Amino acid sequence: MDFRPDQIERYSRHILLQDIGVEGQEKISNGKVLVIGAGGLGAPVLLYLAAAGVGTLGVIDGDVVDLSNLQRQIIHFTPDVGKPKVESAREKITLINPDVKVNTYHEFFTPDNAFDIIKDYDFIVDGTDTFPVKFLINDACVLGGKPFSHGGILRFEGQTFTHLPGTACYRCAFHAPPPPNAVPTCSQAGVLGAIAGMLGTIQAAETLKFLTGTGKLLTNRLLSFNAKTMNFRTVNFKKNPRCPICGEHPVITELHEAEQAVCELKQK
Ligand SMILES: [Zn+2]
Repeated sequence: MDFRPDQIERYSRHILLQDIGVEGQEKISNGKVLVIGAGGLGAPVLLYLAAAGVGTLGVIDGDVVDLSNLQRQIIHFTPDVGKPKVESAREKITLINPDVKVNTYHEFFTPDNAFDIIKDYDFIVDGTDTFPVKFLINDACVLGGKPFSHGGILRFEGQTFTHLPGTACYRCAFHAPPPPNAVPTCSQAGVLGAIAGMLGTIQAAETLKFLTGTGKLLTNRLLSFNAKTMNFRTVNFKKNPRCPICGEHPVITELHEAEQAVCELKQK
């Protein structure tokens, strides 16, 4: 790939990095990343990946921008209230970097569309807010052989890990989603806006590390932090032989609608 002079200038701080260089920037420019959810986590992930020059960004979100989103979903601006989040996100991505190809899906991620949407991407980022969808993303990526970054935030806390085919998955650590309403979501319990930025930028960094093959990914490790104390903790976790989807005797072999009980948790 031949970069134009303006692209060399735009990406010069990447190119200067010994671990990235022109070759790494080419990998970023050839990368195809799907971000599920254009909300608190998706916003910083999309902004940084657009700025970094990821060649193709997919954005899936069925919601429209709500005034209460603007406290943390920094890809959306006040005049965007009422607009589909995917459209608002596409506009900002294009303003930051017109070279990025943006695919938008104004729908929610469901067992029916999951495989069809993830198949075109190299890496998936979970930027969603509810457990059933997080498990669905895990299951679709594990069954579909796709690497992904898991991310979750609540109140002052965040947690994330990265999955590659063959490494521990979400169900290796957490067998199944908690019962509906057992664990609150951000829309019920609140979240400090900047926490979304803290966790989302970690996910963006993992994505860029994956695309360029740089460094050590957060595989088989769960990173969590509490911003009240600013303590960061990394706990090792292994691929679980009894995992219901990636273990020795998997019982989950397809995506189930039953775990998609998302609507009752959704904010309105
Ligand atoms: Zn597993």
